[in-house]
Amino acid sequence: MTTPIFVWLRRDLRLADQPAFRAAAAKGPVIPVYVLDDEGAKHRRMGAASRWWLHHSLASLAADLERAGSRLILRRGRSEEVLAALAAETGAREVHGLHHVEPWWRNAERAVGKLLDLTLHHGLYLAPPGSVLTGGGTPFKIYTPFWRALQERMPPAPPLPAPKLTAPENWPASDKLEDWQLLPTKPDWAGGMRAEWTPGEGGAAERLETFTRRVARYAERRNLPAMLGTSRLSPHLHFGEVSPAQVWHAVANAGGSVATFLGELGWRDYAANVIHQFPNYGARSYKEEYDRLPWRTGPEAEADLAAWQQGRTGYPIVDAGMRELWATGWMHNRVRMIVASFLIKHLLIDWRRGEAWFWDTLVDADYGQNAVNWQWSAGSGVDANMFVRIMAPLTQSPKFDAAGYIRQWVPELAKLGDAEIHDPGLLRPRGYPAKIVEHTVGRARALAAHAALKAG
Ligand SMILES: Cc1cc2nc3c(=O)[nH]c(=O)nc-3n(C[C@H](O)[C@H](O)[C@H](O)COP(=O)(O)OP(=O)(O)OC[C@H]3O[C@@H](n4cnc5c(N)ncnc54)[C@H](O)[C@@H]3O)c2cc1C
Repeated sequence: MTTPIFVWLRRDLRLADQPAFRAAAAKGPVIPVYVLDDEGAKHRRMGAASRWWLHHSLASLAADLERAGSRLILRRGRSEEVLAALAAETGAREVHGLHHVEPWWRNAERAVGKLLDLTLHHGLYLAPPGSVLTGGGTPFKIYTPFWRALQERMPPAPPLPAPKLTAPENWPASDKLEDWQLLPTKPDWAGGMRAEWTPGEGGAAERLETFTRRVARYAERRNLPAMLGTSRLSPHLHFGEVSPAQVWHAVANAGGSVATFLGELGWRDYAANVIHQFPNYGARSYKEEYDRLPWRTGPEAEADLAAWQQGRTGYPIVDAGMRELWATGWMHNRVRMIVASFLIKHLLIDWRRGEAWFWDTLVDADYGQNAVNWQWSAGSGVDANMFVRIMAPLTQSPKFDAAGYIRQWVPELAKLGDAEIHDPGLLRPRGYPAKIVEHTVGRARALAAHAALKAG
């Protein structure tokens, strides 16, 4: 009897260009295992939108594995305990997986490594986090030099095809996906997500294919929320349904502004590089004094936070973004920057409250990318952005031609003309809220709080 080998899956849910599958398949029969492990004390429990995505991604992977003559074994609990129990059941000792950068996954990797023969491969990023170093051998803190150094190591190795899998003589039992209750039921708020997304390796490949026809015009369209200018690959990349190397090689020869797009993939690697250095980045301001900024708290601040979450701030571009997020689990990057700045500066609410809302509602919620971008918006991060750079939503909205976007997501305003829709003023229809804070008032309050912080 040949001893089977585990492939331990987390957010690397694909068969092609998946080095753990390839290495395991080369050695013997493979048992692919997904362990639902996000209840531990140091784990960040996945948000509701991520759980929705995960359900469908696992269903898709299970179907792909069945077609390849294999199966997906689902178990729930602490990774090391589950894998050790499965080892006792099956006789397997060897585990292959991909390196993950989140602090809880790094803990789990250490724990599994103590009990079983674990081999970790790289495959989630263009380059292994922690491996892109300055001339002095230290990790980069700033994006631009990081990207310059990363590019010197590009292109990534050509993607690997899906391996041929051999089944073990006996399969261990699997949980039923439905029993994990990852999908919302009462109420079922996922209709907008079902309409927008096809989780899984097949859905990712389709998105990538259609995007390769648009990538040449990426630079001119990427900041316009009313256009389909970006790839919308982020949730697929987050769940590992497509590898960044596959994306790189698919677009590299498309011409036009492909370099701008590859630079965004570089931001994804940069975020992982920051988390690798500062595992607590999602919980604490890198510039520690920002945790002492006199952030607003109490009932009024809570009411403002709720208005922001519900898309009822009276700022059409902010409200459109927050409603797009609620309906589809995704928001355009330009609008993410605007709503984040608005929460932190105009409402003077701690960036971590916004980070937490995004974590729960984004289908692409990613510990590194979310934290790096929120700390960038707050000016509290490791990069050079400053708190006092305050985005003006009413200027951003016409500048990036957001009228059509606002009409789509804030239907109360749909009848307003292009000149008024960004700031309805006296034309504000009944049912649409007045501004919760005037721009100049919010701006002055934020600058005063910052000055107080600096004065000590
Ligand atoms: C406040 C805030 C929070 C964010 N939270 C997340 C998050 O939790 N998860 C997430 O994937 N992205 C996050 N982003 C980054 C960015 O908004 C999304 O990656 C992007 O909008 C996804 O759309 P796309 O796939 O069409 O991107 P494209 O423009 O097509 O870019 C391609 C890929 O590059 C990566 N990328 C693009 N922009 C960034 C960026 N600024 N930082 C890091 N990686 C980037 C993504 O993986 C993206 O899929 C956040 C941005 C802000 C301002």
